[in-house]
Amino acid sequence: MKLTTPLQPLSFIEHDPAMYNTIKGLQEWEVLGARCSACGRIGWVDKNTVLRRWGDQYLMNLRSRFRCDCGNRTDNAVLIGRLPR
Ligand SMILES: [Zn+2]
Repeated sequence: MKLTTPLQPLSFIEHDPAMYNTIKGLQEWEVLGARCSACGRIGWVDKNTVLRRWGDQYLMNLRSRFRCDCGNRTDNAVLIGRLPR
């Protein structure tokens, strides 16, 4: 899945891969994204698209599922962004 949703979260944190939280555990105003391990680009996705495609997942399982524009899809950092409320 490409990181293409044109969201601009106010801020974001990097998900701790040791934490067992899931997509459905995210708050309404939180968005999912990733930072590419190869080029450093940050991109965002629509949570509902992810849910439809893969179902509810532990966030750390998403690390190798998002594909960056540069073609890389491994070892990405999962990001949790916060939209304006
Ligand atoms: Zn990249």
